[in-house]
Amino acid sequence: MSKDYYKILGVAKSASSDEIRAAFRKQAHQHHPDKQGGNTEKFKEANEAFQVLSDPQKRAQYDQFGSTFDQAGMGGGAGAGGFSGFGGGAQGFDFSDLGDIFGGFGDIFGGGGRGGARRAARGTDIQVDLQIDLKEAVFGTEKTFKLYKDSACDVCGGNGVEPGSKMHKCKECGGKGQVQQVQRTVFGAFQSMADCPICEGNGEVPEKKCKQCGGRGIIKKQDEITVKIPAGIDDGESIRLTSRGEAGPKGSRAGDLYLRVRVKKDSRFRRENFDLYTKKNISFTEAALGATVEVESLDGLLKMVIPEGVQSGQLIRLKSKGVTHLRDSSRGDLYIEVIVTTPTKLSKKQRELLKELGV
Ligand SMILES: [Zn+2]
Ligand SMILES: [Zn+2]
Repeated sequence: MSKDYYKILGVAKSASSDEIRAAFRKQAHQHHPDKQGGNTEKFKEANEAFQVLSDPQKRAQYDQFGSTFDQAGMGGGAGAGGFSGFGGGAQGFDFSDLGDIFGGFGDIFGGGGRGGARRAARGTDIQVDLQIDLKEAVFGTEKTFKLYKDSACDVCGGNGVEPGSKMHKCKECGGKGQVQQVQRTVFGAFQSMADCPICEGNGEVPEKKCKQCGGRGIIKKQDEITVKIPAGIDDGESIRLTSRGEAGPKGSRAGDLYLRVRVKKDSRFRRENFDLYTKKNISFTEAALGATVEVESLDGLLKMVIPEGVQSGQLIRLKSKGVTHLRDSSRGDLYIEVIVTTPTKLSKKQRELLKELGV
């Protein structure tokens, strides 16, 4: 489901940044779409892997949450339309990805700094798996967890300027925020405009950088996040928390946090859409004569009427004891599969009675 970036680049989990870079270089040469036999998909995949593994922060996040840092796979709440908490998520391939591809590419062949890639001024999205049990999925719940991530610096409020410090025009770019640069690649030389490396595109620089964050506007810290999980959510569906991802550079918008819900397998109940299924053993006599028995449900013990002559494997429905629908809070049903147990040890008298019955 999610991608293994290490596998994509063909490196070990312990690979050094040099090894990762070398592996990416190889892949990019091999798959570059402008080359004969190039493969755009593979090139994009390698680039995506490199973007994550070459960035120590992104790599740490990816390592921490296993292979779930999967932006392309975040389909999220498919089938859960109408519920506003579901982002439907994936932004797939947007312009900033494109910028990254050429950034990475320029980085290889140009050897010239950051290759002029203009990063979208927005924090990175994070995806985290959140495990809940079936009962929590059926009735909804609230979860609190801790997440170590980039947050806006609380001293400067994210702009990287020491409080009280004045801003003045950047000398490097004359306040334009952009500088011209020439890149030499195997396809020739390109002139391009890039963000000024001194003011990072702002056109002005602070007299004093914020001491707390060194002017980055971002600090790593642990954030406590509380999320309401709606009743009826299913395994694999995602909840998007807008602007709860990594803080954006220089106080720009934070990324989003996607919580992918994983519902633990339950030993007694199986979910199918909004219905639940379970099994109940009954005796031979109860099956033949009918009975009222107690069955376990997520609502506690319930009474169930077994009709006379029920067959093993037959389903009995208990209405509205299934999973809550996201839209209108009505509930699916609980189906109980009746298992008739044949007695294995009979007393002499029981044996004779059964023989006499002859059915
Ligand atoms: Zn700061
Ligand atoms: Zn500048």
